[in-house]
Amino acid sequence: MSSSLTELIQRAEELRNLLNKAGHAYYVLDAPFMEDSIYDRLYRELLDLEAQQPILITPDSPSQRIGEKAEKGFESTKHRIPLLSLDNAFNLEELKNWYSKLQKLVKQRQKNNVESSHWEMVGELKIDGNALALSYSNGVLVKAATRGDGSQGEEITANVRTITSVPLSLQINNPPQWLEVRGEAFLPNQQFSAINKDREIKGENLFANPRNACAGTLRQLDPKVVASRHLDFFAYSIHLPEKWTAQEKDFCTPTEQWQALEFLKAVGFKVNPNTELLKNFYEVQTFFSKWETQRQTLAYATDGVVIKLNNFDLQQKAGFTQKAPRWAIALKYPAAEAPSKLVKITYQVGRTGAVTPVAEFQPISLAGTSVSRATLHNADRLAAIDLHDGDTIIIRKAGEIIPEVVRVLQELRPANAKKVQLPEHCPECQSKLIRAKNAAATRCINTSCPAILRGALSHWVSKEAMNVEGLGKKLIEQLVRRGLVKSIANLYELDISLLISLERMGPKSAENLIAALSESKKQPWHKQLYGLGIHHIGETNAKALANAFPNVSELAATICKSPELIQPIYGIGSEIIQSLEQWFSNPSNQELIRHLKQLGFSLATTKEERTINSIQKNALSNQIKGKTFVLTGTLPTLSRNQAKSLIEREGGKVTSSVSTNTEYVVAGEQTGRKLKKAIELGITIINESELKKLLSLENISNM
Ligand code: NAD
Repeated sequence: MSSSLTELIQRAEELRNLLNKAGHAYYVLDAPFMEDSIYDRLYRELLDLEAQQPILITPDSPSQRIGEKAEKGFESTKHRIPLLSLDNAFNLEELKNWYSKLQKLVKQRQKNNVESSHWEMVGELKIDGNALALSYSNGVLVKAATRGDGSQGEEITANVRTITSVPLSLQINNPPQWLEVRGEAFLPNQQFSAINKDREIKGENLFANPRNACAGTLRQLDPKVVASRHLDFFAYSIHLPEKWTAQEKDFCTPTEQWQALEFLKAVGFKVNPNTELLKNFYEVQTFFSKWETQRQTLAYATDGVVIKLNNFDLQQKAGFTQKAPRWAIALKYPAAEAPSKLVKITYQVGRTGAVTPVAEFQPISLAGTSVSRATLHNADRLAAIDLHDGDTIIIRKAGEIIPEVVRVLQELRPANAKKVQLPEHCPECQSKLIRAKNAAATRCINTSCPAILRGALSHWVSKEAMNVEGLGKKLIEQLVRRGLVKSIANLYELDISLLISLERMGPKSAENLIAALSESKKQPWHKQLYGLGIHHIGETNAKALANAFPNVSELAATICKSPELIQPIYGIGSEIIQSLEQWFSNPSNQELIRHLKQLGFSLATTKEERTINSIQKNALSNQIKGKTFVLTGTLPTLSRNQAKSLIEREGGKVTSSVSTNTEYVVAGEQTGRKLKKAIELGITIINESELKKLLSLENISNM
């Protein structure tokens, strides 16, 4: 999609404003108002725009700054060596690009060939804390500072002295005159939870994540409070005077990142133990994948891995951008949420007529896959998120599978954008859409709506229903569009000559399809019932109903004449009964049943199923037939009359008083004398659930 320059300028400005606001909330106030992953993606969008049109770069762009200047409280201090940020990669593809660009750049700048061992990388965990610059003078800690804007930070020495893993003096006999250590201060997860719990009790605002809690702690004015929070520190880099060389045999002056980490350990720092030397790109990949899952087991938060070129000489050749070293990159873990720009809304009409708005947006990668469409569910959801044309939306993968729109970033809404509303007419057949009182869905109720028909046909031929192979969405679309099929039954009237006149349909496929359709007539009754696509009748309910009613006529008759007999069936509630009533009383559905029967569908249990059922029934009759039941107390779901007619239907007798002739007493809540007498006479006492089992009404779906 090409955008005019004016649009790009406007978008860049909106992004700058929002990101600067977010940066202030994050770096200065320690109270972010958006997720890091969302910030990262929007920031990336701004970088892409600036790369596309460099005139869009302004001095106040977050791309020109590292962090933020501190607000108040601590003295500002200039860093001896700037503290930079890290560039990000969001997937292995981006990491690969970075790696090959780095190799190309270094090879250009290096006269001799680079030995393959020099391309080794160091894989480190990206600790989700706050960078600290520690200055040592002759081996003694003299200053500790936050990163701030990269060149100036806040001096927080007294606070950092309380972190027990930061050595106050180094374990080295000939320390250099100055030495700078960089690393990450962090708050272990357990501490983070304890602090937030305490703040909750005191009615204070909670910290959004361990990183913000750590930043807030480092900026405490009272070092005693800092000490009480037990911050920790991992060192990851060191700067030494150029001419200094170690004089002890245990130390060598580091010429590689790996050696630098060894050096840091030797002088008394805590270095993250999960660091690895990686020989090639394959090992880099493995390192990343391993920590994507294992990081959950760590006692502190990480938000990715950092990959660094090991060799210092080559690092120097690669150099730095304004914000970050070119020889290192942070590979962040895939986020479950990400922003994108809405392109348009389409409306899907399902087989039940429900109209679902679907957001189509610029493709993004989410939890490892590319997505460009997400459901907006229904009119209520549209209203709740207040969606407007051109909005920047946040997409999430619900349950890691179905993408949905969670919210919009109103700050990035284009001026005069129109609110999105569900259409009043069906986008397929133009008939007026209806929304029943208290219903979530807005529906098209035109039974000959092509979208509903397409949905009904797809459902009928699906694997779980009639399992007709060779009748995919495209073929159904053609059949409906050309008016060749107007109901499920019409599928069985198609002949080969007609089928081969369709696009992409040869004689062999046509023959196979006819055979598959014919074969499908043998599907069991519960699959046929499920295939009819009655609202609320999924596979389980279809099984339960097919088990209780041997054929469609008995089912339809019971629904119309005595629906109360259906309620006791396990899992069938009043909403389902209402849906069945509506379906079976509709003349076009009655016609469909007639038509299917004419075509040879049994819509009944097969001989085999009948045999199994009759064995079960006999067993049941033996337990109930001729036996006397007494009902007492209130049963949880069945009324007295329902329970009575169900027992009588199976040949049992229900009497009102307990005697030695009573076989079973069915007891509910608030029982009285009858139960007492049953206990005295030693009669079997059962509850409603046990009665349902006797009547074979419970756990039917498992059979
Ligand atoms: P960053 O956190 O993406 O990466 C750089 C930092 O990583 C370094 O400064 C260092 O502190 C840390 N780090 C951890 N382990 C490391 C290791 N082993 N080696 C080297 N460095 C290591 O970048 P940043 O500039 O600190 O902050 C930018 C990030 O802050 C963004 O990516 C975003 O996620 C977040 N942010 C969020 C908001 C928001 O509103 N949620 C606003 C601004 C920034």
